[in-house]
Amino acid sequence: MTIQIGISACVLGEPVRFDGGHKASTFCLQHLRSLVRFVAVCPEQAIGLGVPRPAIRLQRDAAHNITLVQSRDPSVDHTSAMLTYTDRLLPELARLSGYIVCAKSPSCGMERVRVYDDAGQQLGKIGVGVFTRRLMQYYPWLPVEEDGRLLDPALRENFITRIYACHDYQQQMQDGFSVAKLVNFHSRYKFLIMAHSPTAYRELGRLVASARLFDMAELSQRYLTDLMQALKNIATRKLHANVLQHLQGFLKKSLTYAEKQELTDLIHRYRQGFLPLMSPLTLLTHHLRQYPNQYVAAQRYLCPYPEQLGLRA
Ligand code: SF4
Repeated sequence: MTIQIGISACVLGEPVRFDGGHKASTFCLQHLRSLVRFVAVCPEQAIGLGVPRPAIRLQRDAAHNITLVQSRDPSVDHTSAMLTYTDRLLPELARLSGYIVCAKSPSCGMERVRVYDDAGQQLGKIGVGVFTRRLMQYYPWLPVEEDGRLLDPALRENFITRIYACHDYQQQMQDGFSVAKLVNFHSRYKFLIMAHSPTAYRELGRLVASARLFDMAELSQRYLTDLMQALKNIATRKLHANVLQHLQGFLKKSLTYAEKQELTDLIHRYRQGFLPLMSPLTLLTHHLRQYPNQYVAAQRYLCPYPEQLGLRA
């Protein structure tokens, strides 16, 4: 099953913006496109706004109701049309494993969208695009990221990690959720979760241990939502080093003293910022090939997404 990623059509290079332009993302077009199937959506075009079209913006009234109105003539209100379209579309997006939205847009923006009051005064970058707000409410587990933030290597790596984890979970459960499948999935993700959030690692462990107390549908959604929330935390050098040490522990009976020292030293220098993650990770995987350990080899931490993306380098 190919990974399907929703994307604002303008980020995929389609000239659908209000001024006839686009916001093509090099990363999406040149790196991700060969690995995933993009599902392009332009909500403004879909509700019948042409190209070019008058600019629109978010407006907040005294009762804090947010509407999507034409910037030059706020009496032209697109809120109802946008909500109707979005609510009709959302059930069709159930197979998505992630969504890349265009930043700052009153329809697609994920955060920090400008909001204005009735008099046209700016209230600040406090809004969320009308389409994307609904999307995130409907699929609380879905990894959503903005095009601009994908330029940041740490945020990009984090988003791709979540996409692949989400897709893996969807694939494992596509024929039906079961506690046995959940236990198997969770055991493969333990160290990846630990690298992102030791707290979530403990909480998710408790959730899985008490799985039989829950309604299955509720548990499935809760696990995925909590997992995605956990992976949203950026894995720091300190957390990675901690995971690497744990993994090294599985090899303590196999490695010679010199091999242990070498790996310990690489992990230490990585933690201090002198080496990239790939240095201790490469040596660790080399030892794992020499001294196979089924449990460790199955850990998604070792390969959370295709190597060709080069994100850990
Ligand atoms: S930001 Fe969204 S609504 Fe605006 S042009 Fe891009 S896809 Fe269309």
